[in-house]
Amino acid sequence: MQIYADNAATTALSPKVLEAMTPYLTEIYGNPSSLYRIGATAKDAVEEARQTVANLIGAKNANEIYFTSGGSEADNWAIKGVCKMLKDKGKNHIITSKFEHHAVLHVCEKLAKEGFEVTYLDVYDDGLVRAEDVKNAIRDNTALVTIMYANNEIGTIQPIAEIGKICREAGVLFHTDAVQAVCNTPINVEEECIDLLSLTAHKFHGPKGIGALYIRRGVRVETLIDGGAQERSRRAGTENVAGIVGLAKAMELSISTMQERNQRLTKMRDRLIDGLLNIEKSRLNGSHDHRLPGNVNMCFEGIEGESLLLSLDLKGVSASSGSACTSGSLDPSHVLLSLGLPHEIAHGSLRLSFSDDNTEEDIDYILKIVPEIVAYLRSFSPLWDKIKND
Ligand SMILES: *Cc1c(COP(=O)(O)O)cnc(C)c1O
Repeated sequence: MQIYADNAATTALSPKVLEAMTPYLTEIYGNPSSLYRIGATAKDAVEEARQTVANLIGAKNANEIYFTSGGSEADNWAIKGVCKMLKDKGKNHIITSKFEHHAVLHVCEKLAKEGFEVTYLDVYDDGLVRAEDVKNAIRDNTALVTIMYANNEIGTIQPIAEIGKICREAGVLFHTDAVQAVCNTPINVEEECIDLLSLTAHKFHGPKGIGALYIRRGVRVETLIDGGAQERSRRAGTENVAGIVGLAKAMELSISTMQERNQRLTKMRDRLIDGLLNIEKSRLNGSHDHRLPGNVNMCFEGIEGESLLLSLDLKGVSASSGSACTSGSLDPSHVLLSLGLPHEIAHGSLRLSFSDDNTEEDIDYILKIVPEIVAYLRSFSPLWDKIKND
């Protein structure tokens, strides 16, 4: 049995998306900036995709959507682009949280070296940031608040509308890394007072290497790439036409089936969580209620997450212990540590993330093998010997 349960890392390309992209990888190869027909046809496809993405996140205008190479680029651009514009106005303070993706955290660390002050908000043990804490952290010199929509490791969905309202009232710009949230929970940038939003296609069955940044009209952001006039002269370079078409198609397909899928995934997720909690000294990381439908993140005391992952792989299950960036190193995840978990517990974590492609049979199989593997690994763990009787 082969089960892919790492959809928070990336998803399989949907065959329908590939079909929509294929003409733009073959006969319609024209440059969108050209005037002849195959160029104009490509240009039309890009602009239609831009309109689709705008509609699907509730943006007022298609020209508020800028295509990028993915989520990391969108995060970098949003944060650096806004901060560099506002620094001259004396605004040199950023508010973020301790459990952001590295594409946000490392950007903030870099800006800190360039003279920005960064406030890293605490995350509570339920895996949520408090809007009240954002409010209390805002100062006269705050340039930007950047808080992720849904966390990539523990799947917790943050109070984005509340944070947006606070920022709007305080006159501070608000960016959200919505890479995990888009297509998994309803989003509306107008209603939620979001000024900048990052998304990437490969997290919802689109192709890799294409994403978008929503920039509200009137928000000033430094140019990312100087060159031609593409993306309203703010990010030059010939457009990734097939990728852009694929992104819009994947988003359209995924959002049109979201409600039904979320009901199905929530049932599967909860059955899996309930089953895994029967393992002694196990815990669910992050709030159960404010959680992406496809995310399960658990800790099992007395074992190493890495050993668990390798054993699962041998039995055909692809899972993760956290983010792709931390796996491969033995440091516990910064996300789990931010929830206040001790190092030795954070080490024994497992993230299973599901998509439309997963079935109830997958859950049955995982529920059968995880308790066996955990018991086996614990049988020769000196750590487990010490904690089992606590
Ligand atoms: C995957 C991910 C990113 C990075 O997106 P890429 O398209 O791989 O650059 C950023 N933020 C979050 C929350 C993610 O899950």
